[in-house]
Amino acid sequence: MITSPLCSVEESIDTLLNDFLEQMTQQVEFNAGYSENLAFDYSRLWHFLRYNINNAGDPFIYDKFVKSHAKEFEQKSLQWFAQLYELQNHWGYVTTGGSEGNIYGLFLGRERYPDSVFYASKDSHYSIVKAARLLRIPYTPIDSQLNGEIDYDQLERELSAHRHQSAILNLNLGTTMKGAIDRIERVVDILKRVNITQFHLHCDAALGGMLLPFIDSAPKISFQDYPIGSIAVSGHKFIGSPIHFGIVLTRREYVQKIGKRIEYLGTDDTTITGSRCGLNALFLWYAIATRGQKFAREVVTCLENAQYLRDRLQQIGYNPLLNDFSITVAFKKPPAKVCDKWQLAIEGNLAHVVVMQHISTQKINELIDDLLQAQA
Ligand SMILES: *Cc1c(COP(=O)(O)O)cnc(C)c1O
Repeated sequence: MITSPLCSVEESIDTLLNDFLEQMTQQVEFNAGYSENLAFDYSRLWHFLRYNINNAGDPFIYDKFVKSHAKEFEQKSLQWFAQLYELQNHWGYVTTGGSEGNIYGLFLGRERYPDSVFYASKDSHYSIVKAARLLRIPYTPIDSQLNGEIDYDQLERELSAHRHQSAILNLNLGTTMKGAIDRIERVVDILKRVNITQFHLHCDAALGGMLLPFIDSAPKISFQDYPIGSIAVSGHKFIGSPIHFGIVLTRREYVQKIGKRIEYLGTDDTTITGSRCGLNALFLWYAIATRGQKFAREVVTCLENAQYLRDRLQQIGYNPLLNDFSITVAFKKPPAKVCDKWQLAIEGNLAHVVVMQHISTQKINELIDDLLQAQA
């Protein structure tokens, strides 16, 4: 322990770093509760840690005299996501994570329709409610069904009650606790029935944005087929990264009036933060370039392993819930010892494991053994 951080001697810095390294190495072993892929390798990029790469402002606009950015890599990554979600004429940027993407989605909604009411299910991520608070958008919470999916009947009643106001909606493409998917198609039908034509549909696809497109039978995420307004995806979840990041995408016409020109930066102020980590863009591009062809295979393996975990939990009386197209297995909260060792995420009397790439069947067997032992 450093007593005074300002006058620590070399050895104590060494000790602290070594201890922390040890702690990190160990936590990787049993990190089962959080949707973070830990199976990544960016070591080829370590040279770039020497530079300050700043993608300040709009990713698509830069002065040719400014050379310390990685906006070409950012654009390539965004292009890849735009294709994945069938979005022509896209705009977006690499964010600090899913949360910033959610804030941006709601911000766009409010800029488009300043007098909106905001609707989202109670199973939505905390960043969604926070974004509504930040932006002072009146929020109407909608109940969730038992599996975590939005209650469509209640949504219809609430929309109908405010049918003369425009609407901003958040749909979860994979809720945090139960991996539930709100169906875009059903919500679009409801909007038609209640005759609300001015709406902004934001999709929180933090994890699901990297799962659904790679599962044949899954609901499509398509800007072409549906009037989606924006989508936010986490980068450090399925793709995995030591630096936290994500992407937000929208239709280019929605940002036309958002940002003004900042002359000395040679770009437009269209993003939430000003300076942005350019390493993020480089990391994301690198992950897509090296693993893009393998994502589908990774998704299938995670789905299979999630089903395996569900079946094993079922056998030992843990009442698991695994939604379709999801890798999040929720179950009855086990004894504290097991929760602690495996870093299970807990909410009320529910625990969950997110079966990411590093949760192998062997790991699952170990977890089941621990659960059986705790029961005995
Ligand atoms: C994790 C998560 C977020 C937030 O993503 P960060 O990258 O941690 O900011 C948003 N929505 C859902 C559904 C999530 O699971």
